[in-house]
Amino acid sequence: MALDSKIPKGPIADKWTDYKNHINLVNPANKRNIDIIVVGTGLAGGSAAATLAELGYNVKAFCFQDSPRRAHSIAAQGGINAAKNYQGDGDSTYRLFYDTVKGGDYRSREANVYRLAEVSANIIDQCVAQGVPFARDYGGLLDNRSFGGVLVSRTFYAKGQTGQQLLLGAYSAMNRQIGRGKIKMYNRHEMLDVVVVNGKARGIIARNLVTGEIERHSAHAVVLGTGGYGNVFFLSTNAMGSNVTAAWKAHKRGAYFANPCYTQIHPTCIPVSGDHQSKLTLMSESLRNDGRIWVPKKLEDVTAIRTGKLKPVDIPEEDRDYYLERRYPAFGNLVPRDVASRAAKERCDEGYGVNATGEAVYLDFASAIQRYGKEQAHIKGLDENDAALVKKLGQEVVKNKYGNLFQMYEKIVDQNPYETPMMIYPAVHYTMGGIWVDYNLMTTVPGLYCIGEANFSDHGANRLGASALMQGLADGYFVLPYTIGDYLSSDIRTGKISTDSPEFEEAEQEVRSTIDKLINNDGSYSVDHFHKKLGKIMWNKCGMARNAKGLKEAIKEIAELRAEFWNDVKVPGSENEYNEELAKAIRVADFMELGELFAKDALHREESAGGHFREEYQTPEGEALRRPEFQYVAAWEYKGEPSAAKMHKEALVYENIEVKERSYK
Ligand SMILES: Cc1cc2nc3c(=O)[nH]c(=O)nc-3n(C[C@H](O)[C@H](O)[C@H](O)COP(=O)(O)OP(=O)(O)OC[C@H]3O[C@@H](n4cnc5c(N)ncnc54)[C@H](O)[C@@H]3O)c2cc1C
Repeated sequence: MALDSKIPKGPIADKWTDYKNHINLVNPANKRNIDIIVVGTGLAGGSAAATLAELGYNVKAFCFQDSPRRAHSIAAQGGINAAKNYQGDGDSTYRLFYDTVKGGDYRSREANVYRLAEVSANIIDQCVAQGVPFARDYGGLLDNRSFGGVLVSRTFYAKGQTGQQLLLGAYSAMNRQIGRGKIKMYNRHEMLDVVVVNGKARGIIARNLVTGEIERHSAHAVVLGTGGYGNVFFLSTNAMGSNVTAAWKAHKRGAYFANPCYTQIHPTCIPVSGDHQSKLTLMSESLRNDGRIWVPKKLEDVTAIRTGKLKPVDIPEEDRDYYLERRYPAFGNLVPRDVASRAAKERCDEGYGVNATGEAVYLDFASAIQRYGKEQAHIKGLDENDAALVKKLGQEVVKNKYGNLFQMYEKIVDQNPYETPMMIYPAVHYTMGGIWVDYNLMTTVPGLYCIGEANFSDHGANRLGASALMQGLADGYFVLPYTIGDYLSSDIRTGKISTDSPEFEEAEQEVRSTIDKLINNDGSYSVDHFHKKLGKIMWNKCGMARNAKGLKEAIKEIAELRAEFWNDVKVPGSENEYNEELAKAIRVADFMELGELFAKDALHREESAGGHFREEYQTPEGEALRRPEFQYVAAWEYKGEPSAAKMHKEALVYENIEVKERSYK
């Protein structure tokens, strides 16, 4: 099937308005006769479910947690972008659009990104109206801070808990509809297949995680807002439960999977401490507003630090290498994540890593504490030369801005980051790849939509910070409610969709037989044993830097590991109870397939772009080298198994932005 991205004609600034002016609508009385399934109740799914129900559709919402409030979105710390230009520092819809396309290394679809920038301002108004407690400046206006890859301050935040506050807003909006009976909420339900009837998505098969019951649910359209698949790496900053199953099952039913190898590696995470670990912790990018990243200039200082003979605070200024400020003077510590991650890896590969494993750099707040302390002393008419006072005042400012993040760091690392620099290292954080969608957010299966991190998104080869929340909420509150109506307008006379059809029967039997196989396999190794092995292959051969040899090995090793998994995995317990191991086994089985497609996609892309870095394609300075012949989206069609997947290309046309070298110098 040829890809049609359905981008409306006309000038970019008019496309979305013209589109809305001309689409088909469903009148309120007819909306009452239409059912929509929304799988996922994070920021994308939660905002979509609430809005669709508010419009009058009957919504069935699903999540695997015990409450929508526990979706992974709750973890988002730093903030959400919007082109409000409250700072008067030159922001605009165009600039947000431009920064996002450039930040994604010119690998995203112009029309979608422009629309995202356009609706970004509405998101903030909507959330403020819901009562989301965004930080405010001294005059009472909403405050902003900066994130990487941009030269303006456009990031709205609620301390280091922006995702949590936004999710509470979406959850309240959902609850209103749950109360009215317009949303039927299925907590602790895991979608295990999409049901396609006569070429249209008409329902799902879900497993009640508490009882083990397999259920059929029908609807006129199905929306997936099921999050990202970073946990294919085993270790990531994602919530432990985040997985690819919903997206992968949709892929197997005909939805193309786009750019699976586009992963974001976040530069500021707490370094890996050992093999026993099952989770990595993010230190928000917002910290790069004030934290300065460095390693020692001299290798002997590195050795002294590692052996405990020197502390970082003992290293004099002239012996520190603030390598981001040195290499990228214009953006300094606020370069985009892919650039900052690679630069940290480069220093550590050269032997300058500051912890025992050699994989850590410093994020230092001493200068900020001094700067803020002096300012406060000046404001208060106190002695600016009193070092102890300045330090105390400065620490208070930093605590107000980032207190919860500092506390989290201290609890995990057992070091006080007000007194000694934090140690950080890049870790898997976000997946720009995902289910391919057209301008309507519809997948290649009619009636099946995909929103939020689960789709291949608006971020191209790299996501700028604070853009995921913006995209998820734009999709759910402002885009999908229009586009899905256009599709459903032809369904007003269809009536209820029966679950009593061969398609539902076939999908249910498939789910049952997978579960049966896993439960009765009686192998020797736990699910985690295989997941960890997969994660190691992914990190070593498909991680921050990749090359053709490693990727070919990864493809082979993942296929072998998958066979081993099905042969030798042990899932204790039964299928008719709450069985966390079984749920995990089903998810890992899908990661095993996705991993192979991921490597295959990475291998075919003979260029470096954003978060995807092929060692063979770099500039003499070690920067990502894009190649014009790869200016397309790679959308993979399932053909029986990952190795047989067929690639379709969506050419990326840039008419409103000049594609040039992506410089942050
Ligand atoms: C630590 C951390 C900090 C971050 N900070 C920021 C930030 O400051 N700013 C920013 O813009 N972005 C940030 N991000 C990224 C951002 O949080 C996520 O991209 C975004 O929240 C994803 O939202 P979502 O709604 O698409 O998916 P999620 O929030 O992951 O929700 C997925 C939903 O799908 C459900 N689900 C999944 N599979 C199934 C299934 N098979 N059956 C039923 N239900 C299913 C889950 O139960 C859940 O409800 C951060 C990410 C991390 C890891």
